[in-house]
Amino acid sequence: MIPPRHVIVCGAGVVGASVAYFLARRGAGVTVVERSGVACAASGKSGGFLALDWCDGSPLGPLARKSFALHAELAKHLGTDYGYRRMDTFMLAARERGAASGGHRVAAPGWLDGAGVVTAALGSTETTAQVTPARFTAALLGAAQALGTRLCMGVVDGVARREGAARGVMMASGETLEADAVVLAMGPWTGRGAERLPLPNVYGLKGYSVTLEGIDVPAHALFVDYRTADGRALEPEIFPRPDGEVYVCGMADPAPLPDSPEGVEVSKTACDTLARAAGRVSTALAAARITRGQARYRPVTDDGLPLIGRVPGVAGAYVATGHGPWGILNAPATGLALAELITEGAVSLVDLRPFDPARLPAARARVI
Ligand SMILES: Cc1cc2nc3c(=O)[nH]c(=O)nc-3n(C[C@H](O)[C@H](O)[C@H](O)COP(=O)(O)OP(=O)(O)OC[C@H]3O[C@@H](n4cnc5c(N)ncnc54)[C@H](O)[C@@H]3O)c2cc1C
Repeated sequence: MIPPRHVIVCGAGVVGASVAYFLARRGAGVTVVERSGVACAASGKSGGFLALDWCDGSPLGPLARKSFALHAELAKHLGTDYGYRRMDTFMLAARERGAASGGHRVAAPGWLDGAGVVTAALGSTETTAQVTPARFTAALLGAAQALGTRLCMGVVDGVARREGAARGVMMASGETLEADAVVLAMGPWTGRGAERLPLPNVYGLKGYSVTLEGIDVPAHALFVDYRTADGRALEPEIFPRPDGEVYVCGMADPAPLPDSPEGVEVSKTACDTLARAAGRVSTALAAARITRGQARYRPVTDDGLPLIGRVPGVAGAYVATGHGPWGILNAPATGLALAELITEGAVSLVDLRPFDPARLPAARARVI
């Protein structure tokens, strides 16, 4: 096969940035097209938690293991500090009112001095790690740009085709950008920017997060089984970051996906609930200031697995989205595998068949 000389990657989230970086490393000319801002959506507002083996037993297991290893390599090779570090990870039980039953079941770090109970050690510095996702995404894109990748701001409106094959993208501005291949990595908006392609449904699942500041706590990731005073079961996740910020996320919300990242609405009540949950497990977190309340949509598919591979029946069109709760973890292996597929026609890194977009029916409205 003749490798494409110029590839357009639609979307500058972590997945698009990773695909662009690995394509650029393989010598392809790349243009990344982004409507709003680099890492402006889930990729900039997510936890950035990474786990070696938490996807084992699912088709994602091998992808996650490769990605976990690639994260360690990238942290050395990208030459930018984006908060990569290994962490110990704990499970806790906590209640908004009163104490969770029983005492700690494993040795509890001293700073977890609130009303929570540490119920398990879930990971060690061998198996769990973190990045600060916005900075990681920017570092990948920056490294791709250093290799010649261009970033172009604009809204993709569809894939341009000639004789059935992808030949670029049509922009909302009316312009057409030409290329030999196109990668759709627009997160939960992938279906909207590719409405006339035979792609399966991609949805957006909303979640909230807050960042806290003014405290200094160790590198321990926390997964909390939490009950609110009115009986709701929540599962907040708490990730202290190396720069002193503590990130707390959780609270799924069925609100529909807005037309663009700018349209995402934040519920102050949901953010306050998350901050209160964090305060129940540690007096340091209870004393911390909320610096940001945020909401974002993670991209999900009908079977919970990502779409990574060729768009069925359209030569030169590829897709990489639907990574759900593990997009930051799995971006590196996704980017490298797709770059292999595009430049060599085959993938040696990992078996992409479980993620083949052709495994799911195409969204009916979209097929023409
Ligand atoms: C609260 C929360 C916590 C999370 N925590 C973790 C975690 O700890 N670990 C982990 O591995 N994963 C985590 N995730 C999941 C992870 O954030 C996502 O899977 C990942 O960010 C998805 O990246 P993406 O590049 O596919 O999509 P996005 O980040 O959504 O990026 C898509 C990009 O495409 C652009 N775009 C959209 N439409 C167009 C268009 N028409 N033209 C041009 N550009 C367009 C958007 O502006 C956006 O920049 C979390 C997610 C959430 C919401």
